[in-house]
Amino acid sequence: MAKKYVYSFGGGKADGNESMKNLLGGKGANLAEMAGHKELRLPVPPGFSITTEVCTYYYQNKKSYPAGLKEQAEKALKQVEILMGRRFGDVENPLLVSVRSGARKSMPGMMETVLNVGLTEKTIPGLIKQSGGNARFAYDAYRRLIMMYSDVVMEKAAGIEPADEQGIRKQLEKIMDRVKKEKGYTSDTNLTAEDLKQLCVEFKLKIKEVLKKEFPDDPRLQLWGGIGAVFSSWNGKRAISYRRIEKIPDEWGTAVNVQTMVFGNMGEDSATGVAFSRNPGNGENSFYGEYLINAQGEDVVAGIRTPAPINEYSTSEHNRGQVTLEKGMPKLYKELVEYRNRLEKHYRDMQDIEFTIEKGRLFMLQCRVGKRNGPAAVRMAVDMVKEKFIKKEEAVMRVTPSQLDELLHPIIDPKAELATKPIAKGLPAGPGGAKGQMVFSAHDAVEWKKQGKKVILVREETNPEDVEGMRAAEAILTARGGMTSHAALVARGWGKCCIVGCGGLHIDYAKKEMITGGKTLKEGDWITLNGTKGVVYEGNLNMMDASEENKILDQFLKMCVSIKKLGIRTNADTPDDAKKARSFGAEGIGLFRTEHMFYGKGSDQPLFLLRKMIVSKTLDERKKALDELFPFVKKDIKATLEAMDGFPVVIRLLDPPLHEFVPREQSKLEQLAKDLNISLAELAKRAEGLHESNPMMGHRGVRLGVTYPEVSIMQIRAILEAAAELLKEGKKPYPEVMIPVVCEVKELQDQLAIAKATYQEVLKKYSLKKIEHLFGTMIEIPRACLIADKLAEVAAFFSFGTNDLTQMSFGFSRDDIGGFLPDYLEKGILPEDPFQSVDQTGVGELIRIGIDRGRKTNKKLEVGICGEHGGEPRSVEFCHKAGMNYVSCSPFRVPIATLAAAQAVVKDKNKKK
Ligand code: PEP
Ligand code: MG
Repeated sequence: MAKKYVYSFGGGKADGNESMKNLLGGKGANLAEMAGHKELRLPVPPGFSITTEVCTYYYQNKKSYPAGLKEQAEKALKQVEILMGRRFGDVENPLLVSVRSGARKSMPGMMETVLNVGLTEKTIPGLIKQSGGNARFAYDAYRRLIMMYSDVVMEKAAGIEPADEQGIRKQLEKIMDRVKKEKGYTSDTNLTAEDLKQLCVEFKLKIKEVLKKEFPDDPRLQLWGGIGAVFSSWNGKRAISYRRIEKIPDEWGTAVNVQTMVFGNMGEDSATGVAFSRNPGNGENSFYGEYLINAQGEDVVAGIRTPAPINEYSTSEHNRGQVTLEKGMPKLYKELVEYRNRLEKHYRDMQDIEFTIEKGRLFMLQCRVGKRNGPAAVRMAVDMVKEKFIKKEEAVMRVTPSQLDELLHPIIDPKAELATKPIAKGLPAGPGGAKGQMVFSAHDAVEWKKQGKKVILVREETNPEDVEGMRAAEAILTARGGMTSHAALVARGWGKCCIVGCGGLHIDYAKKEMITGGKTLKEGDWITLNGTKGVVYEGNLNMMDASEENKILDQFLKMCVSIKKLGIRTNADTPDDAKKARSFGAEGIGLFRTEHMFYGKGSDQPLFLLRKMIVSKTLDERKKALDELFPFVKKDIKATLEAMDGFPVVIRLLDPPLHEFVPREQSKLEQLAKDLNISLAELAKRAEGLHESNPMMGHRGVRLGVTYPEVSIMQIRAILEAAAELLKEGKKPYPEVMIPVVCEVKELQDQLAIAKATYQEVLKKYSLKKIEHLFGTMIEIPRACLIADKLAEVAAFFSFGTNDLTQMSFGFSRDDIGGFLPDYLEKGILPEDPFQSVDQTGVGELIRIGIDRGRKTNKKLEVGICGEHGGEPRSVEFCHKAGMNYVSCSPFRVPIATLAAAQAVVKDKNKKK
């Protein structure tokens, strides 16, 4: 027996199924599943698929077909004729078919299609009869066939390459335009049956003249011409280049699907529509869709007529008053609902459905997993677990991290965004959308906010002195800086919208204006930012708040928590941030940056004392300043430990180079000189002494503690005393003391000795036997990764500071990468910004080495990450695979990290299956 080349579908049966994509192509396999699977058996217009193997044969054998193919296709066609009660080429009641491509992987629009195959001068009267006497409909179908066939089969598949604008289709279109003009018509729909009939005659003459061949007015010639053209289109120019881009192998080949044409425009008892098995806008478990009476599929999409709602639920202000399908065709609606239920049960996901009603008979044309927005995705995932459609492991894979993000921030109304042209583009540093009036200084931001205005702070870049203004602003926009620049870090910590490194902006502080793309915008002008994409718009765009879906979000996150293995901590520097992060499910603090207590609200006094300490000249002076500073530091740490009661809190000792804290404002300098009882000149000299050429690699981190042990002692004592007091109050504090910028084990030993001595003193002071705490280190210098075995003998935990580790591995300044990153990305030198997603080959390898070596000497070593990467989904997956204990990220990224951690577990499991 000849090999099977043809697979039929329709009438509640199918030879193939969904698993046969390689042989039947995606479309063919899907149609077979819809038509034949016992749970579905949908009324798909019957037809058959010719396998991809025939395509391979076709190319290997000089564009010929294998023996037996024609017989098998004829047999399959016969079956279709029986199912439809029509015959191909029949004068009385003709069957028309479509001939379409269908590769394993969808290649949208890359190959050819021929519709209305089987329509000839002889069969037209039969089609008119079928349509209830609609001659216009029949001739329109015929002219479409002639145009498509001459173009696809007679020209393209024949290898004819006409000059520009000289293709046969173009020439026929010109004729049609001429006729319309002569008759004074404005639209194709004005053409009458007689016009179209005449047009077809003219079309055929033109084809003969140009292509030197007759248009085949024979159903079987048309059919095989169409099939051959689809196979040929596998090697058409568009298809070949698409395959190169998508890396689709040439030898896959395409299948050909021959399927009954059904028409939704055959009269008032015909219709066409699209529907979603659940609402894709909010996820509600209600059938949602639109339809048009007496129309073709493309009319629904084209938006010429307003489609009617299929049911009451789908009614909106745009379509109110139109008759619903439920009311107008109740039996068919019931049937459609029944198929909707079958589809959901079978595919266990929301389906996007296309249907057509031809003369009172319902056909299901297509179904696929439907696209949805963030709130809908979360709701559907939660509901489908409750409905026992899916397990929670599957549910967590149904929501992407960016969809989850939509629920956490206000966003720009997508419709408004689509209709507006961006004026600038930068790096997406803080997600969500925001709008406001532009101001160019932190001071103005605070003042304008006081007057009740919404402002966007626009700066070249920000520094710690801008913090108050940044807080007051709705969003921050900077011309310079990378993803871990000051502005980005601070904004992300607050969950604030922020765009950095917007290189196209020219800011003139003096004139209080900015120029972008030749446009000048002034202080007070409105702009709108999409911080998720890094796009800036002029004007006051509409916003949407998706964040109220919180109850469902909570349920969804609970599912994620029950699956994930990684701990999720947060980077928080204030009790408020800690509380916020707790509400999102953070299980501790992975990074408390001590220095942040010297900026922002209530920081005047501690900052002044810190400055005093910094510019002290003698040990005595410094100790005095430290003593004054101590209560502030302790109070701050205590409040944060309390907000995180029962959870670990990693407190990092002072990290930045000290000169960063020296005041720049004259009044502040004067006040400091006065308090220290020194002259302004002397103060300037001392400040000058702190200046470094390369502060990022200068006197910072542990190096400060080595030079000034008293600075470390003060901080460690503050941490331990805060914990001791909380213990006395019946609380459960778990501080973890972290030493930054370590590159050598002796640095760590030096600080550990200080910590141990201080610990004993605090125990004694509070008459306690024990204060639970850990002593550990950041790993943020490549050398630290390589000597991790030694470091782990001293440290109880490692926290990878991937901001600095990336900076020092690449040698890219984290603050200046914005200047050249776009070129690197454009030229493909880097696949993405390594400060956003962990560079798994380089930096990742260092991390793996660090963990591996560390755990060799310290089996109990606790390992986490606290760089900005800790909240980025792919990096979270990497951390899971690398065997870390936790990731730590800004409060607003806690839900995203939680989801990514759960997805990492599920992916792992699926791989092992
Ligand atoms: C890091 O370097 O990754 C880190 C968390 O520290 P910082 O960003 O404060 O330098
Ligand atoms: Mg660092």
